[in-house]
Amino acid sequence: MKLNKLIGIGTLLALLAAVLFVPSINAGMNKNELPESENHEGNRQEIKNIIFMVPDGMGLADVTAARIYKNGTGGAPLNFETLENIGYQRTYSANSIITDSAAAGSAWACGEKFNNGEICYHLDGKPYNPSILELAKAEGKATGLVATSTITHATPAVFGSHVKSRSCENEIARQYVEVTGVDVMLGGGIEKFNSTKPDKCGTSGDFVAEAAQKGYSVVYTKAGMDSAVADGTVKLLGLFNNSGMTPEYLRMTGTKEPRLPEMTSAALDIMEKDRYGFFLMVEGSQVDWANHDNNLKYQIGETLAFDEAVKVVLDWINASPERKEHTLLIVVPDHETGGFAINGPDRLLKAGESMDAGWTSKEHTGEDTVIWSQGPGSRALGRSVDNTDLYGVMVKAIEQQHT
Ligand SMILES: [Zn+2]
Repeated sequence: MKLNKLIGIGTLLALLAAVLFVPSINAGMNKNELPESENHEGNRQEIKNIIFMVPDGMGLADVTAARIYKNGTGGAPLNFETLENIGYQRTYSANSIITDSAAAGSAWACGEKFNNGEICYHLDGKPYNPSILELAKAEGKATGLVATSTITHATPAVFGSHVKSRSCENEIARQYVEVTGVDVMLGGGIEKFNSTKPDKCGTSGDFVAEAAQKGYSVVYTKAGMDSAVADGTVKLLGLFNNSGMTPEYLRMTGTKEPRLPEMTSAALDIMEKDRYGFFLMVEGSQVDWANHDNNLKYQIGETLAFDEAVKVVLDWINASPERKEHTLLIVVPDHETGGFAINGPDRLLKAGESMDAGWTSKEHTGEDTVIWSQGPGSRALGRSVDNTDLYGVMVKAIEQQHT
């Protein structure tokens, strides 16, 4: 009995040894044969990209209106509607149930509530987190900001600067170029990058010249942007209007301004070359302005242009299974603007037909906004969350490549 027991234990130990040691012996042999290269390859496959897309001020009714106008009442969904996970987020700021774009963007970019007007910066001196763009940069990733407002406007600003007030657009331009070193910046705002009159923070200067000194290609037209991309530039400053860019519904044929999908495509062409991946923020800035204006033609034009930019991104992602697996794509408005609603007519509409619509205000509203997402960690966003939760999901997507 005692002997049997001993044999039993011996057999068990032998089995354990076989299970535990045989694979590790193999691993040990492989280690000598295929050292760095295979590990390196393994790491590279884990490199994550984050593409964060913001249709500023877009409520769910805006989506319905744009879809009906483009595809008819029972028509196909818009591109961003096809993303895997759908959830929604609370939008309130640290000091109001009605957020502005500065506080709403700061909640995403830096992971906590801020007061309206603050750009990832606490006026009371409280410390703040680095932005998700700065964290991506620290990981060696390329970073980019694309918008149809001035590129120094509140939503892009929260990712690339820390400033007491959104009005400090010269200071935001200075920080982009001198401090943060955002690799790709495409949008409006020539006057913010080359100013003689100090802004609210007391900043003015020629940051275009400084950017050029630092190795940026500086362009002012779509043709200039395209040739910079073709020439293989890795740092691009594209400023296409003195202030915000021309709205879709007012664009003239022959204009030299690129459209949002074209800027998005240029940014991807540059940033996909970074071996450590990238963080890209794309904003359809003027859905918000259209709603402030209570202008349906303006609103639908901006929503559909934003959706075309999403199509550019989805086509890029779907071009390879690896990109699809490793790219976190989030589409989320920062808040709703105008209290927009569709009120009629009382019949079905075909594509291109106009609808009766109205707004309850000319300002932002306090409702939650929809989050569409796909890619690493995005399942956490397929539910009811706070806008500050998006920071954690993005940080985790970046950190995962180390585990
Ligand atoms: Zn906004």
